Amino acid sequence: MTDSITTIRARIQDARREAEARGISSPKVVLVPTMGALHDGHLTLVDHARTLGDVVVVSIFVNPLQFGPNEDLSTYPRTLDVDVAKLAERDVHLVFAPTAAEMYPDGNVGTRVVAGEAGTTFEGRTRPGHFDGMLTVVSKLFHIVSPDIAVFGEKDRQQLFLVKRMVRDLNIPVEVHGVPIVRAEDGLALSSRNAFLSDEERQSALTLSRALEAAVAAEARGIDAAVAAAQSVLDGESAIELDYLAAVNPDTFGPVDSGYTGAVVVLVAAKVGSTRLIDNRTLAVS
Ligand code: AMP
Repeated sequence: MTDSITTIRARIQDARREAEARGISSPKVVLVPTMGALHDGHLTLVDHARTLGDVVVVSIFVNPLQFGPNEDLSTYPRTLDVDVAKLAERDVHLVFAPTAAEMYPDGNVGTRVVAGEAGTTFEGRTRPGHFDGMLTVVSKLFHIVSPDIAVFGEKDRQQLFLVKRMVRDLNIPVEVHGVPIVRAEDGLALSSRNAFLSDEERQSALTLSRALEAAVAAEARGIDAAVAAAQSVLDGESAIELDYLAAVNPDTFGPVDSGYTGAVVVLVAAKVGSTRLIDNRTLAVS
């Protein structure tokens, strides 16, 4: 593990050379960006990364730039030693865990990536500036690591959409791969923020995945019926504070209208106690 940009670049160079020495002519570097507090969702991304390339780099950085003033930056779970051990068990030794000072030596960035219109809806509406901060740090990580491939989870579906769009818009030479959501046995999407939930809140949190399950069960009856089915599950749980439930076209992240057929992503976000959770499922609406 290193917190230094210079060191991680040098180690990646060494790893590329070692792979070449093993007979791999153009070794592929795969980056998995995370904020740490690693769970099986993150580790699935790491496993997927290994199937895609030769040198796997995991970054761990709780990026202050993507947290709003009233958000959980100071309390966000930080478990660096455990994270590094989990990655070592999976034979990942190229771990980049910079300090905020290493990433933002001037205290703040002058130049930022702006997510544009699609960064102001859903998560972006509730968390103004979040996606600009996220894209800025992802762009910095791309420049630091120079990966051939980067792996992101579908759990953060709008993030994945915006990263793919940034890469296209700014001609960044990296392939972006999405990995399906990893869930607990009871259906709850794994999240570092689940650590904040009491037992009772965790039960209430299951409403999100159950609502999406209801949407999937109703997909044959059209998008309106699917969203209504999800809404009625959410309406039945007073302990959650719904932020949004929406159906979007995965190619544009724009809303779909009643008659729409094809792939639709149903998004949900809600607060359970003071913890904000998000989830989504992809429907095939016919
Ligand atoms: P985070 O540490 O929350 O920023 O997440 C780092 C990466 O892991 C992001 O690309 C997330 O979408 C992904 N991720 C987080 N939770 C899950 C999950 N349950 N299943 C799949 N990917 C996930």
